[in-house]
Amino acid sequence: MATLFTKIIQREIPADIVYEDDHVVAFRDIQPQAPVHVLIVPRQEITGLAELPDEGDHKYLLNAAKVIAEQLGLTGGYRVVINQGADAGQTVFHLHAHLLGGAPLGHFGVEE
Ligand code: AMP
Repeated sequence: MATLFTKIIQREIPADIVYEDDHVVAFRDIQPQAPVHVLIVPRQEITGLAELPDEGDHKYLLNAAKVIAEQLGLTGGYRVVINQGADAGQTVFHLHAHLLGGAPLGHFGVEE
């Protein structure tokens, strides 16, 4: 069954898409944690970072983050996060990178 993010990629579910190329589609997070919060999703259904194939060139994910950050004017800096698995709070099991920016970002660490 198609993941939620595949349905967004296939335009079956609406989203604010800000970027796409041959490898990824990027759209604004529905519950933004920063003024700019974009999800960068590979078109390929990969469950999470742990399932990223050993073979292949996967720098497309980071390249897209860089290009989108430039496109959205994140000149002050930004953060790229991938939540992998339960301890990281992954909720959508289709690999995605969060691109966060638009204001100074707090630090992160272990939840109390
Ligand atoms: P994660 O917790 O790393 O798996 O991130 C999943 C993210 O997907 C969360 O930040 C959600 O707010 C976001 N999300 C869930 N459904 C949608 C949607 N329909 N459109 C945009 N973002 C979504």
